[in-house]
Parts: sequence; C-alpha cells; structure tokens
Amino acid sequence: MKRILGTLLLLLVATTGFAQPKYIFYFIGDGMGPSHVLATELYLGELQGVIGRPQKLVFTQFPESAFVTTFSASNGVTDSAASGTALSTGYKTSNGRIGTDADGNDIYSVAYDAKNAGMAVGIATTVCINHATPSAFYAHNNSRNNYNEIAQWMLEADYDFYAGGDAKCTTEQRNDLYGRAEKQGYTIARGYDDYKSKAKKAEKMMLYQKNVAEEVPYAIDRTKDDLTLAQITKAGIDFLSKKSKKEGFFMMVEGGKIDYASHRDDAATMIHEVLDFNAAIEEAYEFYKMHKNETLIIVTADHETGGIVLGYTGQYKLDLKVLESQKVSVDNLVAMLESLKKTTWGKVSEMVKENIGVEPRGNYSNDEAVEMTHDLANRIAYDAIYDLNHKALISWASGNHSGTFVPLFAIGEGADRFNGVIDNTDIPLTIMEFLGIDTKLKGQYCGKKK
Ligand SMILES: [Zn+2]
Repeated sequence: MKRILGTLLLLLVATTGFAQPKYIFYFIGDGMGPSHVLATELYLGELQGVIGRPQKLVFTQFPESAFVTTFSASNGVTDSAASGTALSTGYKTSNGRIGTDADGNDIYSVAYDAKNAGMAVGIATTVCINHATPSAFYAHNNSRNNYNEIAQWMLEADYDFYAGGDAKCTTEQRNDLYGRAEKQGYTIARGYDDYKSKAKKAEKMMLYQKNVAEEVPYAIDRTKDDLTLAQITKAGIDFLSKKSKKEGFFMMVEGGKIDYASHRDDAATMIHEVLDFNAAIEEAYEFYKMHKNETLIIVTADHETGGIVLGYTGQYKLDLKVLESQKVSVDNLVAMLESLKKTTWGKVSEMVKENIGVEPRGNYSNDEAVEMTHDLANRIAYDAIYDLNHKALISWASGNHSGTFVPLFAIGEGADRFNGVIDNTDIPLTIMEFLGIDTKLKGQYCGKKK
C-alpha cells in the first residue's frame, strides 16, 4: 500500500510539476522599487562613461521576473509591517500589523511552515532584528512599535539563525532577551570573525555587529569591522547548510536600509545599499551554482520608497555620475557637522565639499563664526544632498512609501512560477505549495494556523 501511495505521489509530482526546492532564499530589498534597481545599473554604466547597463546586477539577470502589488488591506500605500506580513504569511493585513490579520488573529509565516517541514531557518537584515520585515517572519503583534514584545517571539519561533542589527529595546530588556537566548541554546557572535570562531560549536546562532548597534551601518559609511550583508548571507548559508543536510533550509535576507536612504531622498547612499544587497545575492547565487536543481532564489521588495524618478522637471536628462562625489550618508554628514561645534563657515564649507561634492547653501565669508546646532547641521546636510540629487537630475516625489509595483526576480527550482502581475501574497503562498501545504484558500489564508 505504502509503495502504491509512493508511486501515486511520484506520478502526481510528475504530472503537476510541483517544484520542491530544498534551499530557498527570499531576498527583500526594503523600499526597492524598479527605479532603485535601474538607477544603480545606470550609475555603474555612467562610471564607465556608458549610457546603459554594461555592468548588470546579478539578480536582474535571473530568467524570471514579475510585477508585484504592494497595497495593504487598509491602504493603497502599505507600510513595512503590512507588506512584511503579506510577504511572509500570504495575508494582506492592515498597516502597522506584524503577523496578525486585519481582525487581529495571529497568522503564521512561511518561515514557520519551513521549520515545521524540517528545514533550517534563518532571518537576516541590516536593520534591527525586531524591525517590521524580519519580525513579520517570526512574530505576532498588532503594532510594529511594540519592539520588546516583538523581540520575545524570536525565542518562541526558535529559528536557527538570526542576524543583523541588535534587537531594538532598552539595554536591560536586551540583556534579558540575550540571556534567555543563551539558555535556550543560542550562541551570540559579534562580527564576522567572531562568527567564524564560534559557528562550529553553535547549536543556534545570533550574529550582530561587533559592538551593540541597532543597525548595520550604511554601506557608504562602512568601516573595516562592520558586518556586510554579504558576510551575513555567507554566514547564514554556512550555518544553515550544516544544520539541516537532509531537509535543506529557508533563509530570508532583508536589505533594510535601501528604505532608510530613500526616506531621506539620499540617492548615492541608496545606490550603495542596492549594491550591498546585490553582493549578498551573489553569495546565494554562488550557492545556487553548486546546487542548481535544488535551489530557488527570489528577490523582491516590500514597497517602493521615495517615489524616486530618474529625471527632473522639464529636462530630458540624467547625470548620475555626479553622485560619485558623495562619500558619506546624509546621517553621517549631520553627525560630522554637529561635531564641529563652535566653528567657521570655511570649515563647514570644506567638510560639505569634501564629502558631498557641492558647495553648502549660504553666502557667508570663510571666517564667519558658526555655532553648530543639530538643526543647523541637519539643514546644511539635507540641503547639500538635495542639491547633489538635483545635479544628478533625480527627483523624489514622495519622500515616503509609494503604491507602485515592485519588481521580482527569480532563478532556480520553481522560479517559473513567479511571472506576470502578481500580488505580494502570492509569493509565500507559492512557497507554501512547494512545502506541500494546501493553498486552496488563496487570497485568504493558506498557511498553518496555530
Ligand atoms: Zn519597508
């Protein structure tokens, strides 16, 4: 009987062509709309003096692509909590909710389903590990702002690998959380070298920055000891593939600060974040090349941020190459200017020119005394970034999220299921199908309800 059933199942698999990827990568570029991707490629082209895409990102070369809707249950423009929940559970919920439906019921993510299927599970990001997108894969809370409550779910979900910025909460709450994590079998590594020395003996892993930090620094501001998203991804692949040799793994990797840079209308910083995200995807692609018939890589976004337009009112022009002169993020420039305290306009001007490549606004003499305040530093830095973006002929229509389609790119086993115009909820539902979960209720809820 068992044999007959087995044969039937095989036949079913053969006729329906269900893919069964053993290794699933789910990359989410927070805020990464189509123009974020294209701006990055056109920028690389302009650096070579070419208009076009001589140097393509690894994921734009994937064979499958789709347009993905991002609207939430409560609004045409989603926030990261509702879109994270849609991308993780297959439910469109209302803005602000993490892993709960529009009525407040707990709903479970595809990562949870993967764990139940015996796969090792990893959740990684460049922002705090209890931020909206990562937490939508393990937590349940009606408000994304209940950071400490959300962080507790990391232990409840008990996944194998968490990495990114430290949990956002008070120091006391964090120490308590990590103390209990260690008792539960987690090893906490700080920095990539620390990961490498501890990974072998670790049962479960939390990987953070060398010193407690709720974010991994922007790629454009990075120093030697800072984690990169590529290192995080590499560590995740290493750890998870050793954890579950038979059943494989599921890993969600978020490029969380593409969104942050875009909220600030800071194009150069955004482009460096997309490049950093691409470098992380390259790690997965290397893995894919060694496990071609068993690996699926999906790259998408939770929404577009900034309403970025590659063009400026009244001109048929783009000059992205000028962004090359920007050496630090707008946040970093604010901090640098603030540190000047009692200074002169000459020093302020020098700092802005050196790091952004434009003259700061204001018609002052070089020896004019300046009492630097946070507000003044903010204004000078943001004006300089605005002026550089203007020179590059980039406009930002929203400064916040927009409701446009986001792109999806996919390669590997099952990738052909992702094409055309789809809802963000279709992505986890399709992965659930791969995991053998009944998704007849497509559009409503199809995962496992606890
Ligand atoms: Zn987001």
